[in-house]
Amino acid sequence: MERCNKAMNELKQRLKQTFGYDQFRPGQEAIIERVLNGENVLGIMPTGGGKSVCYQLPAMMMEGLTLVISPLISLMKDQVDSLNEMGISATYVNSSLSFAESQQRLGMAARGEVSLLYVAPERLATKEFTELLRHVTLSLVAIDEAHCISHWGHDFRPSYLYLAQWLQQFATTPTIVALTATATPEVAQDICQLLMIAPEQVIQTGFARENLAFQVVKDQKDVYLLEYLKVNHKQSGIVYASTRKEVERLYHLLQHQKIAVGMYHGGMSEEARSRNQDAFLYDQIQVMVATNAFGMGINKSNLRFVIHAQIPGNIESYYQEAGRAGRDGLPSEAILLYGAQDLQIQQFFIEQSEATIDYKQNEYLKLREMNQYAHTQMCLQCYILRYFGETGTACGKCSNCLDEREAIDVTQEAQKVLSCVKRMGERFGKGLVSKVLTGSKDQKISQWKFDQLTTYGLLATWSQKEVTDLIDYLTAEQYLMLSEGQYPLLSVSASSVDVLRGKQRVYRKQTVVKQLIIDDELF
Ligand code: ADP
Repeated sequence: MERCNKAMNELKQRLKQTFGYDQFRPGQEAIIERVLNGENVLGIMPTGGGKSVCYQLPAMMMEGLTLVISPLISLMKDQVDSLNEMGISATYVNSSLSFAESQQRLGMAARGEVSLLYVAPERLATKEFTELLRHVTLSLVAIDEAHCISHWGHDFRPSYLYLAQWLQQFATTPTIVALTATATPEVAQDICQLLMIAPEQVIQTGFARENLAFQVVKDQKDVYLLEYLKVNHKQSGIVYASTRKEVERLYHLLQHQKIAVGMYHGGMSEEARSRNQDAFLYDQIQVMVATNAFGMGINKSNLRFVIHAQIPGNIESYYQEAGRAGRDGLPSEAILLYGAQDLQIQQFFIEQSEATIDYKQNEYLKLREMNQYAHTQMCLQCYILRYFGETGTACGKCSNCLDEREAIDVTQEAQKVLSCVKRMGERFGKGLVSKVLTGSKDQKISQWKFDQLTTYGLLATWSQKEVTDLIDYLTAEQYLMLSEGQYPLLSVSASSVDVLRGKQRVYRKQTVVKQLIIDDELF
């Protein structure tokens, strides 16, 4: 016990002396201890949680070289510069350097002159690298953004898969520390299996970002955006859109309103991109409108908001991008501007990708879960946590927690929808179900004889959009289920049986339009 305490104190002292921090952040100490014990470990910590220290501190205490594998080439230089400033010898090799420069740095690593060497995963396959490893003792391999190794992750990279094979070539394998901010239980399992990490060596700190207020806004997206930025124009933030075209449209819209804005997308020249990025990093412009090409390497800690002007493809990407707000811990906002038509863009991305059918099915599933985020009425932070396999308590500051509209009993309407889905044989999507409920004269309906169902026209006073919104709500609340694939079919879930039997009531917050009842007799 005493020895254990002594070791802990020593770690704390090192943390203070080298990094100037008084305390470990959640998870850091547990990860570092395992690494120093020679155990492979997976650390899952939120963005800004302090993952770097988990390998930087052990690197200083271990003999031999620590190899840091990261896809974030643009961050390597910053990280290495700040390590060098702290007196820790570190270097990096990546495609921004000349061949001679890379050779010289690899030479330094081979001679044991640096403790940390940062590389991108592609580098491992090169001849120079294999040569280096013949001369050096590799004690620790830190794998940043480790979710890139999993096929089921949202950002799979083949070079990461190669990394797993590469690690198996060593007679005495180095210790492995894998780190990520986004991993569903399946992705975590995949990482563990590929990197030989025992399941009990997964250290996961809470995913919740206490300082973020999540919001979903459904109407008049442009108007909302302009109003928001007018009020918050002195603060830094990112506006994400899905396509280059939309980035350009929003950029011009904001520029027209005299907002200090820049833009960033993959179709711009490298020079223009880095000029805009620098202007943003140095606070010459406050707002950056960008595709998701922007941000992987952004280490700006004082972003007060991240607005998604179009829905992204999955919750992992959303949380990672939204999580760039408030890395300094101060209150910040993560806003999704939802438009149903934007889903088609994401569907298109999936359709035209060259992935396998299985992979695509999984992507569609993820997109649906993202879509449900926009329709749920549960706490938005809790919804995200549930997706990552965690439970949480209501955050009290997201747009759902703050929704003061009345919760209306919609049990009857829900029953109509659920029973219609059942009567249609649970073989159709929400488009056709809503047509049946509104009593549409669509040819398909008569073809299938759905106009003879008792549920035909049961919501005839509603618009089709109102019915699909209710279906989305019932899906988000898990009364309805969706099958896999591009055109998901609706079915009723086990929990809806009680609703159909009248044993459970369904409530939904909605704006009540109070009808003015005019007493005829007065006139
Ligand atoms: P991540 O990679 O998890 O997003 P970083 O390693 O970049 O996070 O750390 C985020 C910020 O937190 C950095 O500014 C870092 O200096 C700071 N930080 C890390 N560990 C601690 C700690 N124990 N105490 C205080 N600040 C810390």
